[in-house]
Amino acid sequence: MLIGYNQATTLKNSDVETDLKYAEKYGYDFIEFQMKQLNSYLKTHDISDLVNFFSKSKIKPYSLNALEFFNLKEGEDFERVKNDFERMCKIASAINCKIIIIVPSPKIENVSEEYIKEDSIKSINILADIGKNYNVKLAYEFLGFKTTSVNNFSQCYEIINAVNREDVGLVLDCFHFYIGNSNIEDLKKIDPEKIFVFHINDSKELPLDKLSDSDRVWPGDGIIPLDKILSVLKSIKFNGVATVELFNPEYWSWSPEKAIKAAKEKTEAVIKKYFI
Ligand code: ZN
Repeated sequence: MLIGYNQATTLKNSDVETDLKYAEKYGYDFIEFQMKQLNSYLKTHDISDLVNFFSKSKIKPYSLNALEFFNLKEGEDFERVKNDFERMCKIASAINCKIIIIVPSPKIENVSEEYIKEDSIKSINILADIGKNYNVKLAYEFLGFKTTSVNNFSQCYEIINAVNREDVGLVLDCFHFYIGNSNIEDLKKIDPEKIFVFHINDSKELPLDKLSDSDRVWPGDGIIPLDKILSVLKSIKFNGVATVELFNPEYWSWSPEKAIKAAKEKTEAVIKKYFI
């Protein structure tokens, strides 16, 4: 299984150049850019600097993280979403990055699950039509928080299935799968090609509704049943990339090199039982 590095893991103690340098050094296959980091990089660099880097590197761009809170928007608010997405598409296209992750908005009071579904389908189709012009695919990342409009695996899968486009899939993030109480049985029934992005991580042991992104820990160091998830992925013949994505402030106090190296070793140790 190929391994990617998500910049969230060193979000507060690193930058694009540093992450690329060490992710390349420690043998990652891919990098997932956090837009906050990429936007600050582009304030002092030209996109051609990245194109040059990737022309000589082994590591390649995998996705842009993320178009946040794209759904349940109307009028000018949705126009802004479309403009942000198109700007991301231009960046992605320039560096030959094929995937943009899209993240659902918080729930709105008195909005039914059916409305959330229909609205997501409509918005995704509009965005995917824009992405098509740039050869960019969309990966829908449900967030497991109760306050998020799309917060579990089956709900997200149902939406992307209804959209039914080759350029639309989902993100399976182990942390969000776990805290959203997603059902492992649902994972067994899906088309593995629809998992565009697989975020690997683990979690501290706390009540589900107390967990936040900062409670993510290295794969294997927490209580998420990663063995179960990986064995199901193997059984359905998932053939994608595992990207390590944490937001833990403790690891942000490490040197970027130490964190990027540890992330690779911890991820490999967990997946090697199931994938080469
Ligand atoms: Zn994620």
